[in-house]
Amino acid sequence: MIIIKSKEEIRRISKASQIVAKTLKAIEEVVKPEATTKEIENFAEDIIKNSGGKPAFKGYKGFPGSICISINDEVVHGIPSKSRKLKQGDIVGIDLGVIYDSFIGDAARTYPVGNISESAGKLLKITEESLYIGISMAKPGNRVSDISHSIQTYVEKNGYSVVRDFVGHGVGRQLHEEPQIPNYGAPNKGPRLKKGMVLAIEPMINIGRCEVGVEENGWTAVTADGSLSAHFEHTIVVTENKPQILTMIN
Ligand code: MG
Repeated sequence: MIIIKSKEEIRRISKASQIVAKTLKAIEEVVKPEATTKEIENFAEDIIKNSGGKPAFKGYKGFPGSICISINDEVVHGIPSKSRKLKQGDIVGIDLGVIYDSFIGDAARTYPVGNISESAGKLLKITEESLYIGISMAKPGNRVSDISHSIQTYVEKNGYSVVRDFVGHGVGRQLHEEPQIPNYGAPNKGPRLKKGMVLAIEPMINIGRCEVGVEENGWTAVTADGSLSAHFEHTIVVTENKPQILTMIN
């Protein structure tokens, strides 16, 4: 069942989402060569806690980190580590969720570490653009797969591939609610979108092939062909008019 959120629930999701947005913005300062992924996690966790929130990912299905940090060919679910340092030219995807007042906001961004290659830069640009194209389809009367199809069409037109193994989702009291929102598929399928639905839309895009594998830690997804992967995500609410992005700084 897809939960339609009340105004009050949307207000609370919005508060959680603002902490997410603020944290992702502040992280820009610490994504630098030589920073360890553990340092970035600690930095993020401090901001979340000082804002009155809790990291939503910590312990979720046993995930050991407070946030996910995925570098280069890692797609999602990278685990922060004291021994993992960022290098000039890396791209680093950071995904974080915050629980505030019993409700959750969820967003992700992929950051450049110093100067990155032209091809990596283009991947970030197209992936972020595909997210906004997907969001623009989140209107009453459209169906879930209209979001999916618009993302896939844009990404493939640019020569990249869409990861199939992970999807966007509804979000609210739970991190993952219905509906699932794939980033590929034929249009005009799945549930119809309605005002008050809160959705986390999150394309994961590879330069090479779409297949992914999971590393020995049981969590970190990596591209099967070793190509770079990027990830952008926002929590949005479907309204009568344009979708409202909750994880953008007000
Ligand atoms: Mg998500």
